[in-house]
Amino acid sequence: MSAKVFTKGEWNEVLWALKDAYEIIVPVKDGDFHSFRSLEEGVRPNFDFHNTRLSAKGVVYPQSERMFEYSLNEGDPEANILKESPKNFGPRAVMGIRPCDAHAFEIVRRNFDNPEYRDPWWVQRYESTTLVGLGCNEPCGTCFCTSVGGGPFSERGLDVLLYDQGDVFLAKGLTDKGEALLARAPGGREASEEEMKRAEQHAEDVTSSLESTVPSDRLKEKVINELFEAPFWEDLAFACLNCGVCTYLCPTCWCFDIQDEVYGKAGDRIRNWDSCMFPLFTLHGSGHNPREQKFQRVRQRFMHKLKYYVDKYDSGVQCSGCGRCVQFCPVNIDIRDVFVLMNNFEKGS
Ligand code: SF4
Ligand code: SF4
Repeated sequence: MSAKVFTKGEWNEVLWALKDAYEIIVPVKDGDFHSFRSLEEGVRPNFDFHNTRLSAKGVVYPQSERMFEYSLNEGDPEANILKESPKNFGPRAVMGIRPCDAHAFEIVRRNFDNPEYRDPWWVQRYESTTLVGLGCNEPCGTCFCTSVGGGPFSERGLDVLLYDQGDVFLAKGLTDKGEALLARAPGGREASEEEMKRAEQHAEDVTSSLESTVPSDRLKEKVINELFEAPFWEDLAFACLNCGVCTYLCPTCWCFDIQDEVYGKAGDRIRNWDSCMFPLFTLHGSGHNPREQKFQRVRQRFMHKLKYYVDKYDSGVQCSGCGRCVQFCPVNIDIRDVFVLMNNFEKGS
């Protein structure tokens, strides 16, 4: 695999040059935060951030997606036929995605692409997307990626890894997709062995300095029903506002709702992100709601991430340690505390 060094000026030119072959998605400064945008006239890429407020989840799994469309107009030869809406599966490259968010795609893939169920739209978008990661020189105090199988320079799920070395980016190709992107990138020069070693040493130093750790080693052995009935859920949920911020910002939350929207004699079937923190999410047509109470919804979120996922897939947790829910929960509900509570729970204690 290759490694190239680009000055930051050259890298900016690379982004524009690659637009011939990819839709280029870049981080931009958006008020006090960074977000991802498609590169076009007037968009100024900015790689000076800890992490984007929203992850790149929506690139593969849009927040709102027209699935099908239909006409109820009897004069239309295709009336009453549910037709798949046109979708864009063209090649895209996400530039500057953090390693935790690339790892998140691997975590989520188990849900959307497995032997029993395959979501064709998620899979096609994922497969046509090249992920160019940006290693974290300064992880936030809320990051705990190293506790959940990742790291500030983890290569999991990435096609290229960028090391920010001040005036230059060192770009390391990791997969065939990544190599293909680098082969199209103009300018730059081959990285020397010495430069590569220095970059890897720096990555190791940053990784070992990451202090936030959470335990997950005993989650698998816990009995589901005992955790479900654990006495801490009501206390934990007490302050929760059920605002849904934690789930909307989370790169590993995947719940959605499907709705039909009718406009006169035409309609769309739309898939929207939804949240297990909202009471309506589980409201049955009969009026019954199996998760009517707040603590039941909070419990569901954490049981799904730290127990059901663990048991179903036999490894990992449904969390990449990005820390967004920790940073942005308005009442400071902290998943790191929940890891401790669940991992260390003993019935009767
Ligand atoms: S962000 Fe905090 S308050 Fe809002 S739903 Fe999540 S846990 Fe509850
Ligand atoms: S649960 Fe929180 S820390 Fe884990 S991936 Fe989701 S937002 Fe990030």
